[in-house]
Amino acid sequence: MQELIYHDDINKQEVDLNNQENLADNEFISKRVSEIRNSIQELFKELDEVVSMCNHKDGHDVKLIANSKLDSGGLRRVCKICKTPIGYASKKEADEWQKD
Ligand SMILES: [Zn+2]
Repeated sequence: MQELIYHDDINKQEVDLNNQENLADNEFISKRVSEIRNSIQELFKELDEVVSMCNHKDGHDVKLIANSKLDSGGLRRVCKICKTPIGYASKKEADEWQKD
C-alpha cells in the first residue's frame, strides 16, 4: 500500500522525487558498500587466522590456480586441508594432472 502511494507521488512531482530517490539510493549504496567491504576485511582476517592454524602437513592436491596479487597462477600444490597454495607442482604431477 505504501508502495502505491509512493508511486502516485512520483507522478505528481516527478523531478523532485526522482532526485530524492536517487539521493536515497546513493546513500544506501554508499552505506552498504562500506558495510560489505568491512565484512570482507573481517572475513579475510579470520581466513588468515584460521589458515595460519594449519601446518599444511596432511598432503596436497594439484590444482590450477588463477593469477592474483599473491600468485602468478598456474599448476600449484594446494594443501588438502586449507586449500592454500603451498608450492609448484612437479613435472610428474603436472603430467598426471593433464591426464585427468
Ligand atoms: Zn593447510
